Amino acid sequence: MPTIKDPENKVPTPKVDAKRLSLVASASRNLIMILDAAGTIEWANPGFEEHTGHQLHDIAGARPPELLKGPATDPTTLLRVARELHRAKRFEEEILLYTRSGEPFWVHAYGLPIGDEPGVAPGFIVIMNNISDHKHSERGLRIAASVFDRSHEAIIISDQNNRILDVNPSFSRITGYSRTDVLGLNPSILSSGRHSPAYYRSMWQSIEERGYWRGEIWNRRKNGEEFVELQTISRVHLDEPGHYYHVANFTDITELKNHAKDIDRAANYDDLTGLPNLQLLKERLHQAQIQADTHQKSLSVGYIDLDGFKAINENFGSEAGDRILRTLAGRLTQDLRSGDTVARIGGDEFGLILQSDNHEAIYDRILSTINEPVDLGGEAGSIVVTASLGITRYPSDNTDAEGLIRHADQAVYAAKDKGRNLLHVFDPELNEHRQQKRAQLIELSRALDNNEFELYFQPQVRIADCRVIGFEALIRWNHPHRGLLYPDVFLPSLEDSDLEVPLGQWVLQEAVVQMGLWHGAGEDLSVSINISARHMMDRNFTSYLENYLHNHPAIKPHHITLEVLESTSLDDIKRAGDVLARCQELGFRVALDDFGTGFSSLSYLSTLPIDLVKVDKSFVINMLNDPNDRAIVESVIFMGQRFSHPILAEGVETMAHARALSDLGCEYMQGYGIGRPMQAGNVLEWVQQWRQRHTDPLGPAHKSGPGW
Ligand code: C2E
Ligand code: CA
Ligand code: CA
Repeated sequence: MPTIKDPENKVPTPKVDAKRLSLVASASRNLIMILDAAGTIEWANPGFEEHTGHQLHDIAGARPPELLKGPATDPTTLLRVARELHRAKRFEEEILLYTRSGEPFWVHAYGLPIGDEPGVAPGFIVIMNNISDHKHSERGLRIAASVFDRSHEAIIISDQNNRILDVNPSFSRITGYSRTDVLGLNPSILSSGRHSPAYYRSMWQSIEERGYWRGEIWNRRKNGEEFVELQTISRVHLDEPGHYYHVANFTDITELKNHAKDIDRAANYDDLTGLPNLQLLKERLHQAQIQADTHQKSLSVGYIDLDGFKAINENFGSEAGDRILRTLAGRLTQDLRSGDTVARIGGDEFGLILQSDNHEAIYDRILSTINEPVDLGGEAGSIVVTASLGITRYPSDNTDAEGLIRHADQAVYAAKDKGRNLLHVFDPELNEHRQQKRAQLIELSRALDNNEFELYFQPQVRIADCRVIGFEALIRWNHPHRGLLYPDVFLPSLEDSDLEVPLGQWVLQEAVVQMGLWHGAGEDLSVSINISARHMMDRNFTSYLENYLHNHPAIKPHHITLEVLESTSLDDIKRAGDVLARCQELGFRVALDDFGTGFSSLSYLSTLPIDLVKVDKSFVINMLNDPNDRAIVESVIFMGQRFSHPILAEGVETMAHARALSDLGCEYMQGYGIGRPMQAGNVLEWVQQWRQRHTDPLGPAHKSGPGW
């Protein structure tokens, strides 16, 4: 292959056609110019045109710097080149040039003088390579190197076998090891021994699988001091396949950690005892519940409240109080097993989470450790403290952490009610029942305020002449969503509540108002009112009635019958007798309701002052086909006659019932067979229709007064 003559060494050149040689210049990807002796452009190759955007015919005769220099072209480099041209000397420079449209590019420029050869005019050939790419990567490397040197993060570069190839100055600053200390060693020289082999295994597994690992790691400085670093280790693959390096960078976060710990301590621990506080107890309890769920285990929550701690503080001073709390905190901590928690959750209150199965034994032990005397120091001597302990168990008490703590707290109150130095276990079922009842009571009291109750009235008739004596008031609830509700649905949740009295008073007033309307219409009817046992036994019952009559002088009490249930707890029969006697004194009539269903029917009959006995409908309804029930009805009527009490049979569903009862000597009746309970507005019309059907409107029955 022909070679171009080296101009310096002047080796003879093999003969090549000059035309062919010029083709080389035209074809080259380099930028080639031929300048004349004055340094102006005589010729430039297509490579030059393509690169710079200048066309030969435009630039012939121009000076290259005029065309190619730009804002960042180094003027001293241009000066050096000009001087060499002037001296007809070779030059080699790297210069930043600009295209016609202003794009910068780096070239390596090589210029050599020509004209020594015969027949060649003096001038220059300038050959330029675009070296922009090279320049860029060089700059990238320089930046990378300065990042490495100046980074505040420590950087370790290690090879495939994790031997250290390089470390940066921050590494030395943080660890105390110089670069020469560690080159060629394994980064494990920093190991603190705090982490298990498994920890490192999972770290390397992550690097294998994902190419990196990030996490916190405890290491040791050259001076032996431990520190925490937040570290990222990346696996870096370079050009050669299968070849990689590790780059680890880390910052020292020890101080940050300590700071976080301080904050954590302030937020989660009690200053005085160093125990977890309520906040942390809740958090731990929540975690413990998750654990218990996954392992299908139970746990318990204890709430300790010291007895009479306020008095201790007052008598011995708050320093003594603090000393007691600290001592007990220490004892409680010792009593627990690992995984259990004791927390201080209030002034003299501690909370416990126990994960063991044998809760009760541990709690007994806890109470007795609390009871051991506490030395108050100095002359004060020692003192014995007692506590009340409330306990609830999860999952039998299936609620969240806050609920468990609240229930344990409720159990403390129950424990204190029983006496001191005792424990009480919370009963979730009882609680549920109570809560339902409370919710119902709230609804009932709202219903009373909203006037949602209504009295229905059921007629009571004298058998002998079919005369309507009066009506029994029966309560109904027009529930806004559930419609008309019967008393058996809502009265039970009222039992023994404070609402019984106000509701009873409402019934009384409402029934009397209705009776007043009947009287106003010329119907001399009486009204029967059901009185609950609690209402009747209320201290103010009779004085309320007395006041009521006093304020409503038009009311005739002998038209009002108070029905008291035989089956409900007329526990204190003596008092019941007194109350009923007082009612009679005031002029009211008294009926013994549901007779036969209670336990002490006979003694009631003989001792209670009553005007009427109502045979329970359960016997009456079946008396026609059940001989036993018939026998009961018979004997009740018989006994009533013996004690001179008139008898009313409830549950008279047919006229056959009425006849049978009449044969037995029963005097009054009430039941679906006569009339169903009806709204107050229908009473007068019903009475008229009944009378038309059963009696002569002018007959004697109409004229005789009411009463049993
Ligand atoms: P009670 O005092 O024994 O009232 C009679 C109940 O028997 C009423 O039920 C009535 O509708 C029903 N009844 C009447 N005749 C027949 C019949 O022929 N066959 C059948 N199967 N049942 C008949 P109600 O209205 O559901 O009342 C149920 C209970 O609720 C009452 O029993 C009473 O103990 C109580 N109650 C009703 N209203 C009041 C009230 O205003 N105050 C209080 N404290 N209790 C009330
Ligand atoms: Ca009744
Ligand atoms: Ca009854």
